[in-house]
Amino acid sequence: MAGNKSIASHHEVRRLPVSFDRDGSEISVAVHTIKGSRPGPTLSVFGPQHGDEWFTVRALYEVVRDLIGEDLAGTVNIVPVSNPPALRDGTRVTQVSADEPDMNRAWGGSNTWIANQLTSVLTSEVVAGSDVLVDLHLGPWGSAFGAVCHGNDFADDALNARSRQLCHAFGYPVVGALNVTGAFPGPRSLAGFAGATLGIPTVLVEIGGGGFSEEVTTAWISTIVRGVRNLAIAMGILDGEPVLPQRVLTYTTTRRVNPRIGGLLIPARSGRQLGDEVRAGELLGTVVCPQTYVERERLTSPCDGWLLYTAVSYLLRPGDWAFGVIDADGAHWSTHE
Ligand SMILES: [Zn+2]
Repeated sequence: MAGNKSIASHHEVRRLPVSFDRDGSEISVAVHTIKGSRPGPTLSVFGPQHGDEWFTVRALYEVVRDLIGEDLAGTVNIVPVSNPPALRDGTRVTQVSADEPDMNRAWGGSNTWIANQLTSVLTSEVVAGSDVLVDLHLGPWGSAFGAVCHGNDFADDALNARSRQLCHAFGYPVVGALNVTGAFPGPRSLAGFAGATLGIPTVLVEIGGGGFSEEVTTAWISTIVRGVRNLAIAMGILDGEPVLPQRVLTYTTTRRVNPRIGGLLIPARSGRQLGDEVRAGELLGTVVCPQTYVERERLTSPCDGWLLYTAVSYLLRPGDWAFGVIDADGAHWSTHE
């Protein structure tokens, strides 16, 4: 795809130098830029900051292919892998022996850990020149999520409103309003830093996961491709009509139903879909010892609501992603705004 010569737009891949590791290998991060022939705003899309959340790399491959050759008014930047060292290691964290190991808690810092240098280079080269960001998360093997989220606690109310509007414009039927700076993922996450420090809104995309059937995987990828396209339309970068859902579930609170005890996860029933209704006390899965088959833990929903994330049968450590429930308290369905 590199060097694609389109009349309508220009596709360029740059590799931003970051540092050299102790073995002498270079640390760098690649950025695709698709620049339209007409001026306009800039949308920047970030793939895994967490190296075990690789599902979205494939989704962004399709996003790049989808946008090349389109007649854009403005620019779309795509960073397929925001954290190449963590992707190489298959780990969430960038550098185990660092006191800022998690890249999505390292934005805006002054230290020289690899995560700090990655965020510093991406801030000056990509984030600072952007009008809107998309930050893709989750999708380690065996776990799948279904939501898009936005910051709702910035000091600037206009930024909260713009973040919410853009999140709905993405066109996914489940939207979370998060206290991004005050609670999760915090002021030094990309979304927290870009909003609070630079005044740039972020759409947090948590759709899909690895290790599921080709059929659902393809549907999740199409949803992400369509969402980025919808956002580009909302920003005036792309012409066309957005494809939006009939109804949207808006929520503020989620409940993690992750194990306290490691072992083999056995889902209570197969075929449960993201967004399915669940009841308080409903059994979602059990964790058994992989050797004795003794039942270690029953994972039940703590509230009425809808399934935010789910998992296949896989081997868990304590705290790993199993099931998550959108709390019906504070959530509501509405027709699209
Ligand atoms: Zn993540």
